[in-house]
Amino acid sequence: MKVIAIDGPSGSGKGTIAKEVAKRLNYTYVDTGAMYRCVSLMSLRKNLEENEKEKIVGLLENADIKLTNEGKVYLNGEDVSDLIRTPEVTHRVSKISSIIELREVMRKKQRELATKDNIVMEGRDITTEVFPDADYKFYLDASVEERTNRRYKQNIEKGIDCTYESIKASIEERDYDDMHRPVGALTRTNEQNYIDSSNMSIEEVISTIMNIVGE
Ligand code: C5P
Repeated sequence: MKVIAIDGPSGSGKGTIAKEVAKRLNYTYVDTGAMYRCVSLMSLRKNLEENEKEKIVGLLENADIKLTNEGKVYLNGEDVSDLIRTPEVTHRVSKISSIIELREVMRKKQRELATKDNIVMEGRDITTEVFPDADYKFYLDASVEERTNRRYKQNIEKGIDCTYESIKASIEERDYDDMHRPVGALTRTNEQNYIDSSNMSIEEVISTIMNIVGE
């Protein structure tokens, strides 16, 4: 099975890009951030503290997470696509995703997905730890200002009340957490194709990737 792995910081456009590349290649799209977000949501619903590691890992072991190619997310049959994107879930997710045992279980589940289908998988540690031997590896980046602008615009369109400064602060905090954890940190390597999308359109980024994968 073929694996296209895409890593990058939040707001870099990984989701939009990975989904479209998967569609054009007829591959399965896997948003690993959504999987971590499901655990974050479950831990909030169970009133668990961020440091109750064993219980948090148990939540994942017993969860049925289904992702669709259109980006819908089902947790034990319930459509949680919007619920996993609230500020509470987002704030907690980069904390609990530093739990090493959780990452181990997650990696196993993610690798299983590539035994059945060709996949485009996006996240933070896909090119480095989940699929270090992926057929194609990309690091999708954009400046903090551009990522803040994109997220701010999205929120305003959805009617979510926020300020540019609060979004920038949240992106910077998550960048820091995601890049500094002992296991599964977001890292740039020489093996990744590096794309800075700050001044690129979505179509330009997609064509860059499609050219590299040879389609
Ligand atoms: O991609 P998204 O912003 O939805 O990811 C949410 C969070 O999940 C990230 O901030 C990161 O802490 C965590 N994550 C991770 N490893 C991945 C994907 C996401 O730790 N492969």
